Amino acid sequence: MITGPMFSGKSEELIRRLKRARIARQRVACFKPDIDLRYHRTAIASHSSLTHDASAVTTVEDLRAALFPQLDQVEVIGVDEVQFFSDAIVTLSVELVHLGKRIVMAGLDTTFTAEPFGPVPDLMAIADEVTKLSAVCMVCGAPAIHTQRLGQSQELVVVGAAGLYEARCRAHFHPWADEDGSEQLELPSAR
Ligand code: ADP
Ligand code: MG
Repeated sequence: MITGPMFSGKSEELIRRLKRARIARQRVACFKPDIDLRYHRTAIASHSSLTHDASAVTTVEDLRAALFPQLDQVEVIGVDEVQFFSDAIVTLSVELVHLGKRIVMAGLDTTFTAEPFGPVPDLMAIADEVTKLSAVCMVCGAPAIHTQRLGQSQELVVVGAAGLYEARCRAHFHPWADEDGSEQLELPSAR
């Protein structure tokens, strides 16, 4: 499991591991949720423009349906943006591990309000290995563990074009924006 905030290099690390698997002549299948079509429909991509072929699927059931017919030919399964899948991805991962497959997943650990994101906490708990990456805080340059949403939308999922989100350290992360879009300087006491 590869996790961390936006811009921490999760997709880069996933792509690096999948490319190494292919160098080792292992056959790789890669998937992503089709909510994230920012750059490519048929590939995952990093902010630094690395890519790897991938199939975009809507649900975990669709992922299963796309994967199982070719499962005999696949040794390594990659999934990017795994936070957007339902908890069914956890069961599927366990099933695939028991079938002898290696699964490498990348996804956000927390939302823009710093809550654990979807199935990622469970995937981290059951993973053999967890890599938690940090980005660089866009305010001060310190290691950043948070994804700051810029502007005032409170929707959980606003898939990001550049400028909607940036990485922030704990000191410069302000999860709740005021109505005029400016950021509060204090964390609400209810949190
Ligand atoms: P993630 O999948 O975690 O969102 P990516 O692998 O797509 O991250 O992108 C990581 C790359 O983003 C870095 O190698 C760097 O080129 C670029 N980048 C842009 N902003 C930042 C930042 N604030 N901190 C670190 N890297 C950044
Ligand atoms: Mg990514």
